[in-house]
Amino acid sequence: MQNQYELATSRANDEQERINYWREQSEFVDWIKKPEEILRKRDEYFYDWFNDGRLNFCYNALDRHLKERGDEVALIWESNMINRSIKYTRKELYDNVSRLSGVYQQFGVSKGDRVIIYMPMIPEAVFAMLACSRIGAIHSVVFGGFSALELSGRIKDCKPTLIITASCGLEVNKIVDYKIMLDEAIQIADHQPICLIVQRQTKQCNMVIGRDFDYYTAMKFANPVDCIEVESTHPLYILYTSGTTGQPKGIQRDTGGTCVALLWTMRHILGLKKGDVYFSMADIGWVTGHSFTVYGPLLQGASIVLYEGKPVQTPDPGAIWRIIEKHKVVGFYTAPTALRAMRKEDPNGDWIKKSNISSLKSISMAGERCDIPTYNWISNNTGVLINDHYWQTETGWIISCNFMDLHTFPAKPGSATKPSPGFVIKIMDNENKELPNGQMGRICIKLPMPPSFMQTLYNNDQAFILKYLSDTPGYYTAGDAGFFDQDGYLHIMTRIDDIINTAGHRLSTAAMEEVLLKHQDIVEAAVVAKIDDLRGEIPVGLVVIKQDVNVNSSTLEKQLVSMIRRDIGPLACFQSVIIVDKLPKTRSGKVLRGTIKAIVNGLQYQMPATIEDDTVLDKIKINCLNYGKGMGQYCNLDFGNQDIYVEE
Ligand code: AMP
Repeated sequence: MQNQYELATSRANDEQERINYWREQSEFVDWIKKPEEILRKRDEYFYDWFNDGRLNFCYNALDRHLKERGDEVALIWESNMINRSIKYTRKELYDNVSRLSGVYQQFGVSKGDRVIIYMPMIPEAVFAMLACSRIGAIHSVVFGGFSALELSGRIKDCKPTLIITASCGLEVNKIVDYKIMLDEAIQIADHQPICLIVQRQTKQCNMVIGRDFDYYTAMKFANPVDCIEVESTHPLYILYTSGTTGQPKGIQRDTGGTCVALLWTMRHILGLKKGDVYFSMADIGWVTGHSFTVYGPLLQGASIVLYEGKPVQTPDPGAIWRIIEKHKVVGFYTAPTALRAMRKEDPNGDWIKKSNISSLKSISMAGERCDIPTYNWISNNTGVLINDHYWQTETGWIISCNFMDLHTFPAKPGSATKPSPGFVIKIMDNENKELPNGQMGRICIKLPMPPSFMQTLYNNDQAFILKYLSDTPGYYTAGDAGFFDQDGYLHIMTRIDDIINTAGHRLSTAAMEEVLLKHQDIVEAAVVAKIDDLRGEIPVGLVVIKQDVNVNSSTLEKQLVSMIRRDIGPLACFQSVIIVDKLPKTRSGKVLRGTIKAIVNGLQYQMPATIEDDTVLDKIKINCLNYGKGMGQYCNLDFGNQDIYVEE
């Protein structure tokens, strides 16, 4: 007999049955006009979900739960940066959101206008998102603290009528002055939006008369406004993807499909029920923040915890577990990089044991491959389901994972379990030939994509077609490499660009990193390709050593080289290990392998706009140079001014 997962998958993946399946799922949405046409194919590339449906997203996330759950806490704000905790009932949330929509309207924002949200993790950021969808304004959340240049690129691209921001953001031992960056960004972009400013007590900012308005003053005089009706295909938001330089890449997402897919996700992947408390640490500037920190749980009538703080250092590695105990959280969302930071400071899980986390049922993570030691650490210390979610900003929800409410598969560390119903995944080689289980290739997903997949790149249909739909006709190219194992579990190994081609062997950087991480003294590892006259490319490993451990670099290198020879094979030609203090990462925790590769190959690179700490790159250069000097194995690193720029 088929289990619930198999049943859902066979229906959602079947050309005929797909329509019925998603029609049934759309019943969980409150439509103003129910869709008759479930899937419309416009042409070879473009599809519309629930095309003739009419709805309001904010109504589904907020208003429709008011009657039953109005007095229940809907939003809990925990700021470990200023030691504050505030709770908002659903009625209070409604009051703030509906009045902010009124403020937007007063400033001339109407349906289809863009609003940029450049905010720290404070409740007003959540109000700002919901207030947009209430009146059909299209929001674009820009990660708080992005540079003026990055912000200006987004302003230029989507030309917002209004930008909502705060006077500052707070980081460990640092106040980030958002307003200075905003002023500069507006000047560079040469576009004049209205600016609505939340003045934080920690640091207030100056206002530009006639352009900047105080949030709290505006709210005092605002009238609440009602939800407006929009088409299912009306854009809910634009989200610029991480790591972008040059031309911004604005992922545009619809309203109806997103509502259906997120409700599906909450029920079947998270097993979330009305009244549950969900805690996602994902910043609202990421797609995970949109879906898990804000919209998804609210759509389901659950409550959200919004956290301003870090997994460690604010003030200690017990911060997360105390919040889980305090609010009886049932599900926690994070990224492997945060778990690694926690593990580094709490290797035996002592901080976890200090809190009663018995309410917790699952921990989900996304954004990059979760290495096996980290997976085992969190699994052994919490005893709950650890759900590795593979997804992209482009897809809007999870491509592959475990399913709490359909069928929970035995977890396999290092794998994102099974494809979600509706994602028909094929592993293809470069000639578009399907590869058998066990062989690594390009991840391709058959069109049409399920609901909530990006509609296009904002204002750039051609780039959308070229980037995602042209390599393999009839398929979306995810840009990742991976394989299905013999049990049909999906393993995502690396971005296609990060595959190393050594003497004709295509090797995964993730597989090599996995081996390096088995060494007891190593907490983080990145493997990149160095150009080699003889073999095309050879792998070079950069490793971060555990705190307070003394290693002899030459002994460590020998050990790691022999581990790779044993687990991957001599064909990998792995010979070089460089010890570094830190790996360069984006603010969302992805290792900037392209930039490391440029450094290792002596190429020039453009400072990645999304880099978390730009001093790391210079230190890595020095580590590379020193490595070459002492050991004589690998000393031809050339840092000359070559005319090749590398962009992440
Ligand atoms: P973005 O949408 O820019 O945040 O990043 C999406 C990319 O992150 C994917 O294409 C993958 O390369 C990577 N990614 C996300 N989740 C996972 C996961 N669970 N395992 C491995 N890689 C992942």
